Amino acid sequence: MTQTALKWGVNPADVPVFLRELWELVADQLQLITSVTLTGFRQRPLPGSQGARQIDADRLLLRASRGLWRCQACHRAHLRPTPLMKCLAWRCTGILVKENENPDNYDLMVLDGRFDMLRPREHSAQIPAADREELERLFKGDGDRVNTLVCTPTLELGVDIGALDSVLMRNVPPLPSNYGNVRVALAGAIGWLSTSPMRELTLMIVPTSMTH
Ligand SMILES: [Zn+2]
Repeated sequence: MTQTALKWGVNPADVPVFLRELWELVADQLQLITSVTLTGFRQRPLPGSQGARQIDADRLLLRASRGLWRCQACHRAHLRPTPLMKCLAWRCTGILVKENENPDNYDLMVLDGRFDMLRPREHSAQIPAADREELERLFKGDGDRVNTLVCTPTLELGVDIGALDSVLMRNVPPLPSNYGNVRVALAGAIGWLSTSPMRELTLMIVPTSMTH
């Protein structure tokens, strides 16, 4: 903390007073740091933790930020600008420079994307027929309670399940007739997910309502 205070331009002789007043500001006046009793086994106070303080989580706010500030000497990234743009790394005298987000960064694009939650249900002979019909009804309906069916050939035999966005096949069908039965008619897009030594064929079907 002393080093940080010096970086911020505090006169060396004034550092102890500065740090004391800074603590009084965040702990007493702003109440950002509150007294806590740390407990361990059976809620007993942890020995040696009297007088502990911690940041009050109720006073924290999350704010979206764009870009970061990078030290030009040690390249450490800072999430926000510092006083006088000084790097806070130990013994580094570097200066921070704003670094804008790369609009082509795939990870950031994924984070900012709009997500639709998959709500998958199993559709196989293990599921009683009445439950399967209920599943098909939910899947075809306007709601989003079930928007993905993971199914065996139970869904192959002429079941109308409405509009689809995509179908993924986990294995090559054992016979051309299996492929022709329903799957081509089910959706415009059919993708092979993988081949497996098992002869079982599994479909993953997603309705068109998920394409936004
Ligand atoms: Zn640095």
